[in-house]
Amino acid sequence: MSEQESVAGIQGTVRAARAAFNSGTTRPLAWRLDQLKAMNQMLLDHGDDFTAALAADLGKHPAEAWLTEIGFLTSEIAHTVKHLEGWLKPRKAAVPLALAPAQATTVLEPLGVVLVIAPWNYPIQLLLAPIIGALAAGNTVIGKPSEMTPASSAALARWVPAYLAGAVTIVEGGVPETTELLEQRFDHIFYTGNGRVGRIVMAAAAKNLTPVTLELGGKSPVYVDETVDMIAAARRIAWGKFMNAGQTCVAPDYVLGTDAALAKLAKELPLAIEDLYGTEPAHSLAYGRIVNDGAFERLAGLLAEDLEDDAGSSLVAGGRTDAATRYVEPTVLHIDAQARLMEAEIFGPVLPLVTVGSAAEAIAFINERDKPLSLYVFSEDQGVRQDFTEQTSSGALNFGVPVAHLSIPGLPFGGVGESGMGSYHGQHSIDTFSHHKAVLNKPLSPDTLSLIYPPFGRVKKQLIKRFVAPARKFRKD
Ligand code: NAD
Repeated sequence: MSEQESVAGIQGTVRAARAAFNSGTTRPLAWRLDQLKAMNQMLLDHGDDFTAALAADLGKHPAEAWLTEIGFLTSEIAHTVKHLEGWLKPRKAAVPLALAPAQATTVLEPLGVVLVIAPWNYPIQLLLAPIIGALAAGNTVIGKPSEMTPASSAALARWVPAYLAGAVTIVEGGVPETTELLEQRFDHIFYTGNGRVGRIVMAAAAKNLTPVTLELGGKSPVYVDETVDMIAAARRIAWGKFMNAGQTCVAPDYVLGTDAALAKLAKELPLAIEDLYGTEPAHSLAYGRIVNDGAFERLAGLLAEDLEDDAGSSLVAGGRTDAATRYVEPTVLHIDAQARLMEAEIFGPVLPLVTVGSAAEAIAFINERDKPLSLYVFSEDQGVRQDFTEQTSSGALNFGVPVAHLSIPGLPFGGVGESGMGSYHGQHSIDTFSHHKAVLNKPLSPDTLSLIYPPFGRVKKQLIKRFVAPARKFRKD
């Protein structure tokens, strides 16, 4: 299909999704469960196709593809199928005495047609995970995979219609198609990607007062001190950083610590990298590649600049690159806080270590910058942990392990400030993709409300002040 044809077809696609929603078929629990089970079946039947696509696009090892994409999705589906009926039950609210007798409930209702726009770094997971929530909440969905990962997009465009026809439509394409999609009216737009496009999405949504969820990125810091088992900490930091060749929204972006703590960490990180990927990560099937030439050049340029200039950078591990295979070696380096690597999200396998004088200085350093998507603290000191909890703001705060919070379906996954708005996963997805409707049922008899109807005599006034809308006095402590 030509670009023009696909853009022209978009209006019809959205119209069809709306007609499907308006027909009412998506509302029953049985329909929702059927869609989730169909998606599960698709992942089981064609898991090999999806993992092959991920290998072609990103050099992802099939085990990592299962862990972070296919298996991640089947776990999310299993959790949702298990709990959905309970999550959809009307939620009771207490009724104040003055309004009794009455029943008050919050009823979840589907929003309508949801647009999900996904990025390239986890192209299958980040398109389908929000769709699980949108379908479970009874919506129809238009899914827009990233043009940067063509093999994954093609696999999605091939298999999703075969299993989820009438529920999910995949629109392939790049900026022209997404721009045309954003011209249409949706009932929710769920966008994952960078903040620049996030702003375009939000501005387009504003025209129709469409609610948005923005899952964005940014620099996720790590703080490490000398109280931890540094061998274990180095292993976990290296695992979280170099998975998917550093192209993970919640990857540790940089590490803060005192000179002494960073010296210990710098001794262990090269050994941790060797444990994960051998002495030549270029030959390891477990180590990924950079998504395209543009992204490779950006990373290689940043690295060369920071290693060549006189800013005081010094290499701890790695540093080699190969343009032909878009390979960037797992790299660790000491840098100055003013280095270019500290300007924007690195989004690649380069881990800078930045010296601070104390935990308090690390907290100040983090608070001077945009609120991160995740913050990782490696310290056994309870006071330090408490300070980070109380004095910093981030989408998530993990002690002792990076990245793993997003595979706990009971936790909301999302950012704050520049790292995004809204959240999803598990029940949080159902809440995101539903309207929470207040439903009040008050029997006409007995008419207890006559107490508050005019005319207001002295007795009624007293009754209202004392019992219907009383004001309490609070003592100052
Ligand atoms: P990307 O380039 O694939 O873009 C994401 C989507 O936006 C694509 O579907 C693309 O077609 C669309 N798009 C691009 N330009 C557009 C435009 N001008 N108008 C409309 N739509 C447009 O991915 P990316 O943005 O490079 O993704 C990387 C970023 O995403 C990083 O910042 C990363 O941290 C963040 N991210 C966040 C999460 C999260 O869950 N919070 C997950 C993954 C990635």
